[in-house]
Amino acid sequence: MSSINERQWVSEAINALQREAERSADTHLLHMTFAGFPGIDFYLKDEAAHPTGSLKHRLARSLFLYALCNGRLRPGQPVVDASSGSTAISEAWFARLLGLQFTAVMPDNTAPGKIEAVRALGGHCDLIPVGRCTQERAREIAAAGGCFLDQFGLAERATDWRGNNNIAESIIGQMSREPHPHPAWVVCGVGTGGTSATIGRYLRYRGLPTQLCVAEPEGMVYAKAWPARDRSAHVGCFSLIEGIGRQNVEPSFQFGVVDEVIEVPDADSIAAMLLLEELLGFRYGGSSGTNLVACLRLATRMREAGRTGSIVTLLCDRGARYRETLYDPDWLASRGIDPTPRKQALQRQLQGG
Ligand SMILES: *Cc1c(COP(=O)(O)O)cnc(C)c1O
Repeated sequence: MSSINERQWVSEAINALQREAERSADTHLLHMTFAGFPGIDFYLKDEAAHPTGSLKHRLARSLFLYALCNGRLRPGQPVVDASSGSTAISEAWFARLLGLQFTAVMPDNTAPGKIEAVRALGGHCDLIPVGRCTQERAREIAAAGGCFLDQFGLAERATDWRGNNNIAESIIGQMSREPHPHPAWVVCGVGTGGTSATIGRYLRYRGLPTQLCVAEPEGMVYAKAWPARDRSAHVGCFSLIEGIGRQNVEPSFQFGVVDEVIEVPDADSIAAMLLLEELLGFRYGGSSGTNLVACLRLATRMREAGRTGSIVTLLCDRGARYRETLYDPDWLASRGIDPTPRKQALQRQLQGG
């Protein structure tokens, strides 16, 4: 293909992504209050409402745009990325939109619902044993002429941190008429680190006093790495909470914009995830539960200090993806997890008992 035709294709591909963004609505910011936390308003940004069911919809669109604008993605080129699932689903969806072949490299214990979703969108899944490096494998596949989207390396760069309707600008805009429009805290998990980087930068850019808290599965890397800003930190354990709970510090993670890391045991995340279904009537994934637990920890501190204000967090993905895992009582029992007592404890907290 001549370079004129190639530029024409790139321009049409970018146009297709911009049209998709134009057709998409903003995600809801759901408001909740609880008797146990008087004067504290909770807001949940429903990122499961994107067409591909998670906050990775924003990231996938940005990664394709970034690859195209950098001249790294050419007509007919297959695309590949390493993903625990949610990014793969969104990338498969955008690859189909652009008529490109897509391969997702993921660990072979990824929730079956996610693997099915990638395949249903025409994507190919390259499943490798848990513990092997998915990013290395993706790089290997791309070396044969593909485009490596590289979510872990590029998430923080591919997103426009000063605005352009990024997640932070959207949240702060939606808060503008609320009683406490400047949140005391924004709480999010860290997978690539792209979301926390975008939110943290934007809060500074706008001159807001809001602090950023990372909700981290207990024992995973960011709790260990963050205090000393140790990029080489590593942990040997695994978390049941997909999308977050990394073993290594990913290159997109920005230590400097994070004010606190709160560790949450997996069983508490799962209990909070089940509680979200009762509160909202829809199922969300495990990392949304992790976020809720961290919010309640911060809210308790605010209440004890006699403070009022608002706390914002994210509902990261839909629960349907975890039907065979986190939402299956037998699956939980076989891992020694009984969420019921933890859920009751959370309910008591909300009621102020
Ligand atoms: C990716 C992901 C996160 C974390 O977002 P990052 O921007 O990658 O740090 C949280 N929850 C789910 C379900 C995810 O897929």
